[in-house]
Amino acid sequence: MTARATDVAALAEGVAAGERRALARAITLVESGRADHRAQALDLLARLRAEGSPARGRQALRLGLSGTPGVGKSTFIESFGLMLTGQGKRVAVLAVDPSSARSGGSILGDKTRMEQLSRDPLAFIRPSPSQAQMGGVARRTREAVALCEAAGFDLVLIETVGVGQSETVVAELCDLFLLLLAPAGGDELQGVKRGIMEMADLILVNKADGDLKPAALRTMADYAGALRLLRRRPQDPEGFPKAICVSAVEREGLAAAWDEMQALAAWRQAGGHWAARRAAQARHWFEEEVRQGLLAALAQEPARGMLERLGQAVTEGSLTPEAAAARLLDRLA
Ligand code: GDP
Repeated sequence: MTARATDVAALAEGVAAGERRALARAITLVESGRADHRAQALDLLARLRAEGSPARGRQALRLGLSGTPGVGKSTFIESFGLMLTGQGKRVAVLAVDPSSARSGGSILGDKTRMEQLSRDPLAFIRPSPSQAQMGGVARRTREAVALCEAAGFDLVLIETVGVGQSETVVAELCDLFLLLLAPAGGDELQGVKRGIMEMADLILVNKADGDLKPAALRTMADYAGALRLLRRRPQDPEGFPKAICVSAVEREGLAAAWDEMQALAAWRQAGGHWAARRAAQARHWFEEEVRQGLLAALAQEPARGMLERLGQAVTEGSLTPEAAAARLLDRLA
């Protein structure tokens, strides 16, 4: 993408007008690692937030969706997304896919999945970026969410597979966090980490159809029991977090799931929890940006050479670790 200020202005206009091609180009711009693109990306985001921009202050419901491969995430997003576009809502789907960093290929957000939804004029599906470590993925996804909001989407679904840090990243980006599970074979809880359960606002046990239905109901009951044992969070009304059954294939339970999400969203908005969460997230991302910036600075001269020299001095015993660190940090400050 080449770029003059006028292009950025035109791009901002296109995004604010809700044009999907402009949105796709804007996301490509924020995903770029080039320094000149970075400057334009910041310019673009600033324009969309500027006074007088029609995009200023637009907010979407941000839904995080996590689940291990095979639980039915793409099937669920297709069915759920189509239900919402059927109601006239505009739905964007983004993916945080940590595996793409290793394999070079993306397993989420692939356009051949969600085939019907990807053709829906009210939907926008973005495959996950295929490089960079988690810090970079987080920033790009965060900015892509902001661009989708600026483009006037009502809902932004942020999808991730349940590995590594990706859930934490998604939880820090969304208003509601959904955990998608498949029916368990036995009667014990699946290997869902406690930390992930604690992040969930709604557990959706998928594939509650046909032969799998009894197992799905059992799994739902198991999780409902486990959720009751968790400490009640201040941001939850009575009865949340909840576990419910859905069938993405049969398109059953999706309206009920949406009702639960809306009820929770309304309760949190009324109690101020919504705004508080977004404010805390903004604070988190500020600190994260600073951390990433410091790490980037340390990787460049002169800090890099200093790090090497001071490290050597510590190894040789001529400086203590504390003194060496203080000297380096002094220079950075
Ligand atoms: P993902 O890897 O989490 O995106 O899972 P997919 O959406 O690709 O689904 C994995 C498999 O589960 C596919 O064979 C789907 O057809 C199947 N599947 C997804 N949702 C359901 C459901 O509601 N019921 C049943 N029986 N199968 C489902």
